[in-house]
Amino acid sequence: IKKSGMLEIVNFKETIQDIGGLENLKEWLKRKARIFSNLDKAIKFGVDIPKGIMIIGMPGCGKSLTAKATAGLFEIPLVRLDVGRLLGKYVGESEDNMRRALRLSEAISPCVLWIDEIEKAFSGVGGDGGNDVTTRLFGQFLTWMQEKENTVFIVATANDISKMPPEFLRKGRFDELFFVDLPNAEERRNILEIHLKKRRKWTKDIDSIALINETEGYNGADLEAVVKDAIETAFINEQQVVTTADLKASIKETKSITSTLQDRIT
Ligand code: ATP
Repeated sequence: IKKSGMLEIVNFKETIQDIGGLENLKEWLKRKARIFSNLDKAIKFGVDIPKGIMIIGMPGCGKSLTAKATAGLFEIPLVRLDVGRLLGKYVGESEDNMRRALRLSEAISPCVLWIDEIEKAFSGVGGDGGNDVTTRLFGQFLTWMQEKENTVFIVATANDISKMPPEFLRKGRFDELFFVDLPNAEERRNILEIHLKKRRKWTKDIDSIALINETEGYNGADLEAVVKDAIETAFINEQQVVTTADLKASIKETKSITSTLQDRIT
């Protein structure tokens, strides 16, 4: 399993403070962290151990970041399952792979099991596009979710809800579904500030209002790219600090994928 890259332990440095916006999601996670920090006591008390969440939404808006920050917050290892690699050539191989991967994640528990692009593995299940193997894998996964005894907190991330089997989104499967969208003005300011602060380049002279007005349609990854580019420019120009003008120039250069797409449509 390790050799095939199906299941890997992810090293990360991200914390919940690195996430800009997504306030509801962060609050929810912080509450659950109280349970993980006192797991034995919580179980004895009769608290239901959180099962997991599904995060659905736009690319580059912090889904992977949240998976990592969750493990950081809960102070447990992060294990990533590449569902695309479960499929095998031989009869029963895929189911075997799934069984082994899930068993291994239980052996590592308590852990966060991050299943990235989960819709890719299960797209079409229950509809026209599904085949026998994916349908069986899906059933196997649902049963495991219901019956697992160890503390494996699932973070399933997906870009496209339309490809998800409705069965999966039914109440009770995951503790919560969260939708992530492009950041609004306040969230964009927050994200820019986080990335500048991370690199010790945030100063009160930066005119954040001007920046948020010019970054409409930018996602978190775009905003990070703006910050990186502006810092590089400031360095090359031998400046002491990064200015609003540097950031504005980077915004122009780092035109977001989203707005490029929108331009093409309109
Ligand atoms: P994809 O579906 O393409 O995998 P994603 O939603 O998982 O996208 P991330 O990988 O989390 O996106 O985002 C890429 C990078 O962009 C992050 O590592 C982070 O640096 C930055 N970023 C994205 N969203 C945010 C956010 N809300 N706050 C701070 N940084 C963000």
